[in-house]
Amino acid sequence: MANSELPILVAGGGIGGLAVALALARKGRSVQVLESSADFREVGAGIQLGPNVFRMFELLGLTGAINASAVFPGNLVMRDGLSGEEVTRIPLGAEFRARFKYPYAVIHRPDLHQAILDAVRRHPQVRLSASVKVTGFEEAGERVVVMSENGASYEGAALIGADGLWSKVRAQMLGEGKPRVSGHIAYRAVIPTPEVPAHLRSNDVVLWAGPKTHLVHYPLRRGELYNLVVVFHSNRYEEGWDTYGDPEELRERFRGQRPEVLEFMSMVNAWKMWVLCDRDPVSQWSRGRVTLLGDAAHPMLQYLAQGGCMAIEDAVVLADQLQAAKGDVAAAFLAYQRERYLRTTRVQLTARFYGDIYHAADAVRDLRRQLLSGRTPEQAYNGVAWLYDGI
Ligand SMILES: Cc1cc2nc3c(=O)[nH]c(=O)nc-3n(C[C@H](O)[C@H](O)[C@H](O)COP(=O)(O)OP(=O)(O)OC[C@H]3O[C@@H](n4cnc5c(N)ncnc54)[C@H](O)[C@@H]3O)c2cc1C
Repeated sequence: MANSELPILVAGGGIGGLAVALALARKGRSVQVLESSADFREVGAGIQLGPNVFRMFELLGLTGAINASAVFPGNLVMRDGLSGEEVTRIPLGAEFRARFKYPYAVIHRPDLHQAILDAVRRHPQVRLSASVKVTGFEEAGERVVVMSENGASYEGAALIGADGLWSKVRAQMLGEGKPRVSGHIAYRAVIPTPEVPAHLRSNDVVLWAGPKTHLVHYPLRRGELYNLVVVFHSNRYEEGWDTYGDPEELRERFRGQRPEVLEFMSMVNAWKMWVLCDRDPVSQWSRGRVTLLGDAAHPMLQYLAQGGCMAIEDAVVLADQLQAAKGDVAAAFLAYQRERYLRTTRVQLTARFYGDIYHAADAVRDLRRQLLSGRTPEQAYNGVAWLYDGI
C-alpha cells in the first residue's frame, strides 16, 4: 500500500482519540482508532464544558448533538464548606455568552463520547478497532508500525497516542516513570434527580470548598440526572492505598462541614473512585511520525475542568496542521506541539493552583475570601478570559 493510502493510527478511543479521528476524517484523511476496551464507550460521571470547547464543537459539526443532552447552568458558584457563605459566583447567562461568544455547559460523559462516536461513524474512512491494546510502535521510514498485546500489528502513515494518563505511546517516546500522584482522591456518582430533595437541587454548578476537601454538584442530561463529585486529600493513599475507599473515610474527611454537604454525601451508596494524578508539563511530545494528544500529552488535575476540552482543542489544531503541512507529517506534528504546549502547560499548572484554592484552610481560606468575594462578573470573566476566549 502506498504511504498516502495508509491510515493515520490513533491509539485510544476516548474523547481525545475520537475527536481527532473526526477532525481528520472531516479533512478527508483515513484513520484507524485502536481502543483497548471491548467497546467504544465512556464510563464516568459529569464533565464541564467551557466556552472554548464550544467553538471546537462548531468546527467539528457537533453543536446540535451536544446541545441535545447538555445542561446549561445558571452560575458557577463557590461556597465555603464550613460556613456556607458564598465565596464567589460567575454568572453564565446572557452577559457570559456576550463576553465569550459561546455558552458554558455540563454533560454526562457517555453522552459527550456518544455524540463524537456517532459523528465518527458517519465517516466510512474511519475504522474503529476495539479490544486492541497498544504496547509499542516502530518507525519504519515513512510508516509507523504499532504493536498490540494480542500479537497483531498495524501499519499507518503516522501514530497519534491518545491513550490517556497511562499512555504506552508516551512511555516509549519519553521514557519517563509513572504519573505524579497528587494525594487527592475523587469519588463520583450520578443519581436520578428525583432522589435529590428539592431543597438541595439547583441549576448551578456548585462547589463547596472545605479544608482539604470539596464537593461539586450539578444537573445532567436535560436535568434528569444529578452529578456528585467529592474530592479529599488522603494520607492513606499516599502510603500506597489504591483500592476502593469506604464511605466511613468520607464522613471522617468532611466532619464538621455544612449539613447540605453531608446530606449530599449520604445520598450515595456506591461511589466510584478516581486516584488523581498528573505530570509536570513538557515541551516535546512529537517525534517523527508519532505525537501525543489529550491526557497522554498533558495530563492534568481536574480542578479547572478542562482536560477533555484541551483534548478536543488538540484534535482540531492537529488536523489543521496536518492539512497545512501537505504530507510532511513530522513538520505538522512539531507545529501542532508548538501551537499547543504553552496553553496546555498553563492549564496544567493553574489546575494545581485551583486545587490549593478549593482546599484552603486557615490563612489561605481568608486569602481566598479576600481575593474572590466581591468580584463583579466582569472581574470574574477577566480572570478566566485567557482560557475561555479559546484558540
Ligand atoms: C474527576 C475528574 C473530573 C474531570 N472533569 C472534567 C471536566 O469537568 N471537564 C473536562 O474537560 N475534563 C475533565 N476531566 C478530564 C478528562 O476526563 C480527561 O482530560 C479526558 O478524558 C482526556 O481524554 P483522553 O481521550 O485524552 O484520555 P482518556 O479519556 O483517558 O481516554 C484514553 C482512551 O485510551 C484507551 N487506552 C488506554 N491505554 C490504551 C492502550 N494501550 N491501547 C489502546 N487504547 C488504550 C482507554 O481505554 C481510553 O478509551 C476530569 C477528570 C477527572 C479524573
